[in-house]
Amino acid sequence: MKVIIIGGVAGGASCAARLRRLDEKAEILMVERGPYVSYANCGLPYYIGGVIEKESSLLVASERTFREQFNVDCRVNCEAIKISPDKKTVDLRNVKTGKVTTESYDKLVLSPGAPSIRPPLPGIDLPGIFEVRTVPDARTIREWIETGSLFLSGMDSYSGFQTVRPKTRAVVIGGGFIGLETAENLVHRGFDVAIVEMGDQVLAPLDQEMARIVEGYVEKHGIRLALGDGVAGFKQAANGVIDVETQSGKIYPADVVILSLGVRPDTTLAKTAGLEIGQRGGIRVDEQMRTSNPDIFAVGDAVEVKDFVTGEWSLIALAGPANRQGRIAADVITGRDSRFRGSQGTSIIGLFGAAAAWTGASEKTLNRLGDKDYEKIYLYPNSHAGYYPGARPIAMKVIFRKSDGRFLGAQALGEDNVDKRISALAMALQMGATIYDLEEAELCYAPQFGSAKDPVNFSGMVAAGVLRGDMPLSHWKTAKAGFLLDVREPAELAVESVPEAVHIPIGQLRARLAELPRDREIHVICRSGQRAYYATRMLLQKGFNAKTVSGGLLSLAHNHLLDGSLN
Ligand SMILES: Cc1cc2nc3c(=O)[nH]c(=O)nc-3n(C[C@H](O)[C@H](O)[C@H](O)COP(=O)(O)OP(=O)(O)OC[C@H]3O[C@@H](n4cnc5c(N)ncnc54)[C@H](O)[C@@H]3O)c2cc1C
Repeated sequence: MKVIIIGGVAGGASCAARLRRLDEKAEILMVERGPYVSYANCGLPYYIGGVIEKESSLLVASERTFREQFNVDCRVNCEAIKISPDKKTVDLRNVKTGKVTTESYDKLVLSPGAPSIRPPLPGIDLPGIFEVRTVPDARTIREWIETGSLFLSGMDSYSGFQTVRPKTRAVVIGGGFIGLETAENLVHRGFDVAIVEMGDQVLAPLDQEMARIVEGYVEKHGIRLALGDGVAGFKQAANGVIDVETQSGKIYPADVVILSLGVRPDTTLAKTAGLEIGQRGGIRVDEQMRTSNPDIFAVGDAVEVKDFVTGEWSLIALAGPANRQGRIAADVITGRDSRFRGSQGTSIIGLFGAAAAWTGASEKTLNRLGDKDYEKIYLYPNSHAGYYPGARPIAMKVIFRKSDGRFLGAQALGEDNVDKRISALAMALQMGATIYDLEEAELCYAPQFGSAKDPVNFSGMVAAGVLRGDMPLSHWKTAKAGFLLDVREPAELAVESVPEAVHIPIGQLRARLAELPRDREIHVICRSGQRAYYATRMLLQKGFNAKTVSGGLLSLAHNHLLDGSLN
């Protein structure tokens, strides 16, 4: 059996290595247009920032490794230019010599990835404007920010008595993963960084009120954000500076510009081969990664996958799914019955020592689908036992089905151990867990690692409390219409207060019940929701109609940022 694999990075390289492990006799040809196979594109922003010092560290496995260790005919600088499904052949062009050869296949695997979106804007090809996709891209950016202009190379022409060097400026277009990661690395490199983002938030998969926390955090670390303003074009200004012009007419001068406007599945070859393209613009595959042609498989960023929670077709450009899909294609080609379960979009981004991570459905996705059968909670548990040094709060939003408690998705932000909470929750989600399962999850605990009630358990306990009716819930948007009761201590009010709330500290509540209305909903607030819950329990048992405002003052802070008011 002869298998040709097009694309030699995450999905392709994974497929090639697995194929060899499963079939010693298969003839495997893997072609890669670029100069490297199996490189770590996830590490590119950190190479730009100098965190990863050597370019060679990005090269996970070389062409030679594939040849010698896996007996794979691995060809770099080799582009597949045409697939002829009837003849079962692929035309290959040597990128350096231009020579075209034809190879036949029994099975073909496409893993061409998703190139960066590059709109035809005026001036987009000016020197100093880059995208971050490949090792050569990162190398060019690194060279440019070190020596790209006289200014960047150390102000050679800047003489005189001035000892303070003006800041170098970077403009990043797009506030997604790659944009934010590159922005952080440019800050580390001493750049004054602005991010221009057409959408009204960074990190589009997050719900907006959670993204607001990320935005505040990166701004605290010196990144300027221009949200809701698309880039209109680029102009060469004096001294090698590029003026980035936005649709609102603003101009951001830059010594370097990074384009990170998202990616689009590469379907060029698939289209010429007549393969079915899905509604989201990716190659349509079944759960065994088979395209509409049974001898052609496709994996990675180029394919559409089923969203694990909503069942919708979606585009998920992540390394984990690409690697797993590569393995699955290899399994199926060698006769195994492996299947891709769908993708949850589980993601994480690290920024200035903190992390934002998520898995599963967001609230905005459910709203877009018209799904009303969900509830959400906000909670702020400590990353580990509060009495052990270094505990940091994790801001969490957890979404679950009202009707049966199925866990649907979570988003978490914080400076300590966010990843393990979302990883645990992601696994639970894939196993079809309910919030009652999260309550009961047995997770490792010692004070420096977690709490006896881990944030994962805690989210299950709070959510289950809501569904069992122990903790009727309200959210800020509706709470304001009711009677607001603040049960915090007087000293806390000096720091932050809600003017319309009646204040009775929790310790005095039993003695002051007469001050509360029996004919209105009482929305109880505290700082994070915990004391409000205790107060709600007390009031419910005393015959009041009480509800806990989820996340208390902490959730107010970012919901407030959302629209500037409680409404
Ligand atoms: C800067 C950056 C940071 C990232 N960070 C993360 C992260 O932290 N976490 C995460 O999960 N994901 C991350 N990703 C995404 C992740 O790298 C991709 O999801 C993954 O690499 C997709 O694998 P793939 O095989 O589909 O495509 P790719 O890995 O992009 O490989 C496709 C390859 O196919 C080659 N190719 C295309 N067409 C042809 C052709 N006709 N002939 C020959 N070769 C061809 C291309 O040259 C390319 O090298 C990041 C991506 C980038 C660019």
